[in-house]
Amino acid sequence: MAERMLKFTVTPRSTPPKRDADVRKADFHEIYADFIDQKASEQASRCSQCGVPYCQTHCPLHNNIPDWLRMTAEGRLQEAYALSQATSSMPEVCGRICPQDRLCEGNCVIEQSGHGTVTIGAVERYINDKAWEEGWVQPLVAGPDRGRSVGIVGAGPAGLTAAERLREMGYAVTVYDRHDRPGGLLTYGIPGFKLEKPVVERRTRRLADGGVEFKLGFEVGRDATLAELRERHDAVLVATGVYKARDLTVPGGGSDGVVAALDYLIASNREDMGDEQPNYRHGPLYAAGKNVVVVGGGDTAMDCVRTAIRQGAAAVTCLYRRDRANMPGSAREVAHAEEEGVVFEWLAAPRAVTGEALHAAGLRAARMRLGPPDASGRQAPEEVEGADFELKADLIIKALGFDPEDLPTAFAAPDLAVSRWGTLKADFRSMMTSIPGVFAAGDIVRGASLVVWAIRDGRDAAAAVDRYLQAHASADALLAAE
Ligand code: FAD
Ligand code: SF4
Ligand code: SF4
Repeated sequence: MAERMLKFTVTPRSTPPKRDADVRKADFHEIYADFIDQKASEQASRCSQCGVPYCQTHCPLHNNIPDWLRMTAEGRLQEAYALSQATSSMPEVCGRICPQDRLCEGNCVIEQSGHGTVTIGAVERYINDKAWEEGWVQPLVAGPDRGRSVGIVGAGPAGLTAAERLREMGYAVTVYDRHDRPGGLLTYGIPGFKLEKPVVERRTRRLADGGVEFKLGFEVGRDATLAELRERHDAVLVATGVYKARDLTVPGGGSDGVVAALDYLIASNREDMGDEQPNYRHGPLYAAGKNVVVVGGGDTAMDCVRTAIRQGAAAVTCLYRRDRANMPGSAREVAHAEEEGVVFEWLAAPRAVTGEALHAAGLRAARMRLGPPDASGRQAPEEVEGADFELKADLIIKALGFDPEDLPTAFAAPDLAVSRWGTLKADFRSMMTSIPGVFAAGDIVRGASLVVWAIRDGRDAAAAVDRYLQAHASADALLAAE
């Protein structure tokens, strides 16, 4: 082993080639090319095979990273793939869009020792893309029929992961989603330059081919109540994500030209997937020729600024009230945005949307500074008096985060308990909500989070639903025997 591994002192870190900013700005394709085989093996060989691998501890799926890195270094790619997919339903998705700098790679000991982290995400993407190319990804095979059905509300990563696991266990699975395609935010939120859509489609097609039934264009609350769904299925899993956009509560915040981030991204993703959208390119959700200001500092804001650049905006500015070190989005995404020409106004908060007759023409902003840490330990931003400034802005995109929708009302289920933030309350171990037989997973429980956590929750929820249904099957059998 030692011969092939521990090469971090002689082999510098390198990522797959990144397309030049001027070239990649012209399309919505992913910005990284694939690793060539030899490069993947060389980069994997930099791993020092830690006895206590912090990379693995900090991966929400506890992926067996050191082992699949060693197999990749040794050219045993099919085995590396088998190991990687054993703990994740979408490893090639995580390899592309996990904020690795905050998770596995950010905790790699080689990074800590100043040699540059092992490129874990890029290797994960490589081995799993290779598996798809080589036909190693097997069709989904349903387990022996259990004679029970599970309804899943939401076809995002949490719902899809649970669907896959439950189908493998032999349950009949129906996934309901109000969109016309499955994938949740993988399809409609995250742009193609981070995650090309065919990567998601091949995963959802595998589920449909394996017998998972998708009922699309079906909104729970409009097309059925939760109680009706509960009648139809032996268990229900709610994995609806969080979608209520936080508002821009400043004077003029309701002007024409002020739009919600997800409306903006969904329209752009639809165009990328070839959907007809009459007048889209001349409408309020298209950035060509406009001065765009995106308010916010998370992943959504980064996706909006980079989308606006690709649509041909005249100028794109990101306004964030804290500084670079304190922004919630991935540092890697900020670097990509800067390379593509986005200007960042750190320590700045919107004060008013300016313009005539409620048509946005500009944004007046207050300069901020970071005050003393509050009870949570985070420094709160404070205004600097007399330092306001104005930006030209005829398209202002609100990317201030998301809250849960009011599910008890929408689902006509007043007994569905929610936290004070509106997220669904689910028991930590059983993952069951306050309604027996109704489970919850993903962002609707955690609040806006990450794809990798949704996958983790989907796996845990499938196991919890199975435990619940098995216990009921045993109880039914006992009753029948009496
Ligand atoms: P979702 O993916 O939101 O899926 C929920 C599904 O439920 C949706 O398809 C929705 O249509 C459906 N639904 C909702 N209500 C109903 C209803 N009443 N009836 C029927 N269907 C319903 N995470 C990362 O790890 N990396 C990133 O780079 C990243 N970028 C992001 C970029 C953007 C713009 C956004 C918004 C989020 C990003 N995230 C990222 C976060 C990540 O996408 C989410 O944490 C993850 O998708 C949550 O998964 P989920 O399955 O819980 O919910
Ligand atoms: Fe890293 Fe995410 Fe892959 Fe885990 S799932 S190894 S955190 S990229
Ligand atoms: Fe390898 Fe880094 Fe993980 Fe250690 S922490 S096992 S060096 S990837």
